[in-house]
Amino acid sequence: MSPDFPAFALSAEHEALRESVRALADDKIAPRAADIDRTGEFPMDVYDALVKADLHAAHIPESYGGAGADALACVIIIEEVARACASSSLIPAVNKLGTVPLLLAASEEMKQRYLPPVARGEAMFSYGLSEREAGSDTASMRCKATPDGDDFVLNGQKSWITNAGESQFYTVLAVTDPDGERGRNISAFVVEKSDPGFDFGEKERKLGIKGSPTRELHFDNCRIPGDRLIGERGEGLKIALRTLDHTRVTIGAQAVGIAQGALDYALGYVKERKQFGKAIAEFQGLQFMLADMAMKLEAARQMVYVAAAKSERGDADLPFFGAAAKCYASDVAMEVTTDAVQLLGGAGYVKDHPVERMMRDAKITQIYEGTNQIQRIVMARQLLKRK
Ligand SMILES: Cc1cc2nc3c(=O)[nH]c(=O)nc-3n(C[C@H](O)[C@H](O)[C@H](O)COP(=O)(O)OP(=O)(O)OC[C@H]3O[C@@H](n4cnc5c(N)ncnc54)[C@H](O)[C@@H]3O)c2cc1C
Repeated sequence: MSPDFPAFALSAEHEALRESVRALADDKIAPRAADIDRTGEFPMDVYDALVKADLHAAHIPESYGGAGADALACVIIIEEVARACASSSLIPAVNKLGTVPLLLAASEEMKQRYLPPVARGEAMFSYGLSEREAGSDTASMRCKATPDGDDFVLNGQKSWITNAGESQFYTVLAVTDPDGERGRNISAFVVEKSDPGFDFGEKERKLGIKGSPTRELHFDNCRIPGDRLIGERGEGLKIALRTLDHTRVTIGAQAVGIAQGALDYALGYVKERKQFGKAIAEFQGLQFMLADMAMKLEAARQMVYVAAAKSERGDADLPFFGAAAKCYASDVAMEVTTDAVQLLGGAGYVKDHPVERMMRDAKITQIYEGTNQIQRIVMARQLLKRK
């Protein structure tokens, strides 16, 4: 093979990063995962450990005090944290989701104001797009930001917002021109937790990812200064959807991590558990299940990494690959975690083992940042417009 042949492999730096994140996750996060799931409390100790290791928002560029990790490094971080605890992986994932709108479209002054506190671990950033009546159909949102002198006044609500209440900063999408063209009448803003007129709903009682609070955002005549506008007025939905092209890749990574955690646990179990006088790993029916799980998981991982490289380069086909990676990896995560429960038999169904939690956690990856039906719409749209 020619020495010039480009390596189709992770760099040594990416491999080293994986090792260091896995060591931290095994040491500090995995032992806490069952308790985080049981109590449903935000894991502040995990947050502190991630901040200490500079893994909580590693995507923030060095010019804003961040680690400057590329998109592939970010997915490796999220994957390895999710392998131990899906709730905890939402710390780096949602910090990225909340701040990408600024990285894509905000003024330099705004980036200098909001990104360094996140990089330092002093603030988290959430992302408020969805509403009660506007989930898949984001353009039908009703939350309003009415111009008033130099300010905007927000009224309405946002639903399902991850890490709400814990985050200091929120990217919020709101209608600025109610009579304007659908989709082009929405703008993006930064809202701060301390802004008067801004409040939170009760925590949702969820199937999984219980250590990541999900709450509504409520705005009641919440006045914010005009310099909180991200990008141009009317460009908000475009910015929000471009953000998702990049961050869906991170949900794919979360799915891969959850599935890997379940497969690893099941592999250990089948070698130990004996029935009919031998380890259940010796039954070919189970070996075929394990092989299918690993094969699909590896395909999902490769797709997520390719999509991450496209995100880093800003390739034109990122919308297809971001949707495909999220959709495929999350479907695989649901399948692999369900099979892991099956491989443990009755033991898989109880909380003495982590695979039932992983199965519950996997489900959300098929739903948020656009359901997998919506991902298929995005993919089909991209295919049909190709010349
Ligand atoms: C735990 C959790 C955390 C979340 N975090 C965030 C967050 O941080 N920020 C944020 O903004 N949002 C967040 N969301 C919201 C999430 O993105 C939405 O729930 C999701 O986009 C689906 O919207 P919906 O729930 O209104 O479902 P609906 O849009 O009502 O969909 C219901 C069903 O109809 C299907 N459907 C809808 N339209 C079509 C169509 N055109 N063709 C085919 N099928 C269709 C959907 O796929 C789904 O199966 C979160 C949600 C959850 C549950």
